[in-house]
Amino acid sequence: MVSRYPNPYLNQQQHENQGAPGSNDVTQNHQAANGVSGVPLAANQAYGQYAYTGQHPQPVYQQDASGAMASTAQPPSASGHDVPQQGYMPPPAGQVDQQPNAYGQGGAAINGAYTQQPGGQQYAQYAQQDMNSMQSLTAQVQNMNMTTAGQPVTAESMQPGMQPGLMPGVQPSMQPGMQPGMQPGMQPGMQPGMQPGMQPGMQPGMQPGMQPAMQGYIEEPTAPTMENAPRPRLESADVLARINDMDIKQPSVASVASSGMLQVDAMGRPIQGGAPQEQRWPATVACPPELYYNTSPRCARLTTNAFPNARSLAKKYGLPLGAVLQPMEDGAQLPVVNFGSGVVRCRRCRSYINFMCKFTQEGREWKCSMCMSMNKPASEYYAALDQNGYRVDVSRRPELFCGSYEVEAPTQYMVRPPMPPMYVFVVEVTPTAISSGLLNAAVAGIRDSLDLLPNSGRTRVGIITFDSSVHFYSFKGENHSELSTIVLPDINEVFLPTLTDRIAIPLHEGMDALKQLLDKLPEMYGAEGGAMASHAAEKSAFGAALIYGQAIVEDTGGKIMAVLCTRPKIGPGLTRDRSDNTALGTDRERHMLSPDSTFYKQKAVDLARVQATVDLIICTPTVGSFLDVATIAPLSKYSGGDLLYNPNFVIARDGHLLVESMKRMLGRETGWEAVMRIRASQGVRCKTFHGRFFLKSTDLLALPSVDPDKTFAVEFDYDDSLLEHTVFCVQIALLYTTSAGERRIRVHTIAIPIVSSVSELFSNADASATASIVARAAAENLKDKRLEDVRKSVSDTAVNTLAVYKQSDMKHQSVLGFLPESLSLYPLYIQGLLKTPLFSRDAFGLFGFRMDDKSALMHYMNVATSATTTVMGYPTILPLYPLQDYPEAGVYTEGENGVVALTLPPAMPAMKACLRSNSAVMIDDGITTIIWVGLDAIAGFSEVLVGAAETDLYSLGGACVYGDSDGEGGRVRAIIRNVRGLKRAGAPLFVVQSGSNLQARVDALMVEDRSGTQMSYVEFLVDLQSKVRRRAGTVKN
Ligand SMILES: [Zn+2]
Repeated sequence: MVSRYPNPYLNQQQHENQGAPGSNDVTQNHQAANGVSGVPLAANQAYGQYAYTGQHPQPVYQQDASGAMASTAQPPSASGHDVPQQGYMPPPAGQVDQQPNAYGQGGAAINGAYTQQPGGQQYAQYAQQDMNSMQSLTAQVQNMNMTTAGQPVTAESMQPGMQPGLMPGVQPSMQPGMQPGMQPGMQPGMQPGMQPGMQPGMQPGMQPGMQPAMQGYIEEPTAPTMENAPRPRLESADVLARINDMDIKQPSVASVASSGMLQVDAMGRPIQGGAPQEQRWPATVACPPELYYNTSPRCARLTTNAFPNARSLAKKYGLPLGAVLQPMEDGAQLPVVNFGSGVVRCRRCRSYINFMCKFTQEGREWKCSMCMSMNKPASEYYAALDQNGYRVDVSRRPELFCGSYEVEAPTQYMVRPPMPPMYVFVVEVTPTAISSGLLNAAVAGIRDSLDLLPNSGRTRVGIITFDSSVHFYSFKGENHSELSTIVLPDINEVFLPTLTDRIAIPLHEGMDALKQLLDKLPEMYGAEGGAMASHAAEKSAFGAALIYGQAIVEDTGGKIMAVLCTRPKIGPGLTRDRSDNTALGTDRERHMLSPDSTFYKQKAVDLARVQATVDLIICTPTVGSFLDVATIAPLSKYSGGDLLYNPNFVIARDGHLLVESMKRMLGRETGWEAVMRIRASQGVRCKTFHGRFFLKSTDLLALPSVDPDKTFAVEFDYDDSLLEHTVFCVQIALLYTTSAGERRIRVHTIAIPIVSSVSELFSNADASATASIVARAAAENLKDKRLEDVRKSVSDTAVNTLAVYKQSDMKHQSVLGFLPESLSLYPLYIQGLLKTPLFSRDAFGLFGFRMDDKSALMHYMNVATSATTTVMGYPTILPLYPLQDYPEAGVYTEGENGVVALTLPPAMPAMKACLRSNSAVMIDDGITTIIWVGLDAIAGFSEVLVGAAETDLYSLGGACVYGDSDGEGGRVRAIIRNVRGLKRAGAPLFVVQSGSNLQARVDALMVEDRSGTQMSYVEFLVDLQSKVRRRAGTVKN
């Protein structure tokens, strides 16, 4: 029996390899990133979080010399723990303790939020323009003892960009020797509001070791204002944390600490000293605390890191209990376990052994963490226990000390030998596809991606094109160099014109032949004398092409990547022109958001059954053209595929991005023939699943292909009205085949305490994950309920929950007297989400939002990570021009140990006031990247990016991503690429000139302001507070 795991601390050379261009080859890294054992690792991390260039290493957290967090190329090293470590690299010890989490400092509202609130200084710059708050702002700014020269500026005499109390031209609040962002009296490394001697996260008057919530209890409700309204921290590291889904409380056994059972440090490790070990570490854990590594919160993020012990308590709490899952998102290697002949599982509930399975009876029994039944280990898995009750071999058993591990699955986990990776490209070649340039871009995307596909001799690739006919390309001869084109005029009769082997050829032999064909396609179908050009070919026969693609993957499964731009108009699967954008936001829209026919859903189910998936790339070139996304998108939803939707496709602007997105979709690690099952502790079941999959049985998700970008969500419900245990466990088991043909089981286990009081639930709530699940459920309801009812349901749930909180025994610790600290950003997220075009009626008339756009948005919401939904609720806005106030922004610097890190500029609050005429900013709303350029900044910004004062916006968009890395332009590109690279592929990028027709779209993203009929954030908080007060007065405790 072999039990093996990698050395978590790869040497520097290996990290450099992983960050280097060209290191995207999965196979190469599979071998390069060896652990000390010399065993290939379970997952590679090098295919990249960085979809757009492959140039920049994946950021993780690193503390630089100044104490600031930065994105780095390397995990923290020298932690002092020489135990195996899995993918999730927690921040360095002390970091979490010192850095207040993203829920903000709850006490911020207490002691004068303006100076305490992280980012308050930046906020002041923008908040000043709100005249409602001018008086209080002025008073507070004066309280900051700012040195002013001459006559202070008053509110009446202020000009844009100035702050109260400052003379024109004086940099706000700066004194000689200060750095941007610092306040008077601050020293380098300090944060706004800190005083000398304080550590980050501390507030005035606090002693080291105190928690922010420990002081300044609120007895009377505080009215929400611009200054005290909770918002995410705006510093560089916090922006990264938000985008990267790391603004998270540590779940798992570590969170047992919060229930008073255990004191842990930032690594999730018990704090030494103090109470005896057995009192600090749950007795039910199979490993000693110093060995334990938890599951990455990005793989599984729970809505609350404590679970209610009763259905009635859950009902009282009101918010959904669930988890957002990205089972392949480990970012690094997992330990791989080989159990020999039998995988160690509970004989009763079939869950996999994990760190919560305690061995007893001198090692002859172990207790299942899910169903609590006792199991006997097979003789080859037996080991004696040491004097502390742990198996003597525990340090060689990753399954007993890692929250996540992977199993080499024996043959009984295969229904057939692993199939070769099969890729079939189905590409539209109608005149519209040619003239828009889509075919050129698609061909380039496929061509570049061929080099990224797994290519160990098993991979097969085929190409089909379609207009009003379906065209095959058959290869034969040496190196498959003899190409013949076969046109099938009768699209209603399905038969393959030649052997599948001649259409889908082995990649390692046919690479050149495939590339030659791809190069030829645009001229073959080009309108100017192309051999295959036909004006009668305008009508798309996509449905027929899909059926032929299905025939090719029938025996092997695989991936169909379909690129289309016009509505299917003939043959099977044709769709009606039922476009009616006036229905948006009305009761008629529900019908339009539902599929018009079941053809594509049925095809998806058929394909899923043969282990095939469809990635849909939809690029409609004509403004206003209708493709019926609602009807076609189920094709990717139920086959576990991707949907990439790019309306108003313009080759000059979107071509490069499409190529990069396709490279990401095809180059990332992909698991095949996968099924996923989620098990919860006895008494709890999975009620609802969200994501792209085919539900095989009540709790088994079929995923013909799965990759790190695939996000799922699950909501829990109770089978038993009362849970009898103290720890709640969730286990995600993903059985899949690697591209190299190995069958693996990836197991993630989370354990959190079961609690009996609503206070403990509020202490452990996760606002981002909760908002994410709420938004998903609401999006799915749009097809069945009135928009107004969906919106009201979201707000009412928040009111009810907060009313319960108000009646709880911890209300005296709350932010603004009605918000628990853990949920302090929850109102911000939901009011922002309710302002998105998905849930807001206002947007429709303003910026040409159409029915297809809304359908696509609904499908995006289904696979959004919690980071995506929080950014949808509160966009990330970063200054891009001028950057003179942020000399470090956009600069990669090599710190100690050769660590390369990019610094982002601090974010700005989502308010129109931050859009200044002489500036350019980046706005990331989770779905798109918008580069907003003020009128007075166009020339300067263009000069920085392209070296000329005048350029068109399309070229400017390209120059935001592509170009050299020197100078200020290089810094701008580094910022944009870094933020985009942290996300999944496919975010369209627009340059919006101030005052243009897309300005309304940008204005709607300034979610702190009023928009249309919707309240500003502060008004929303005021309204929420009064509703909570009324509700709390009428609800019995
Ligand atoms: Zn069990």
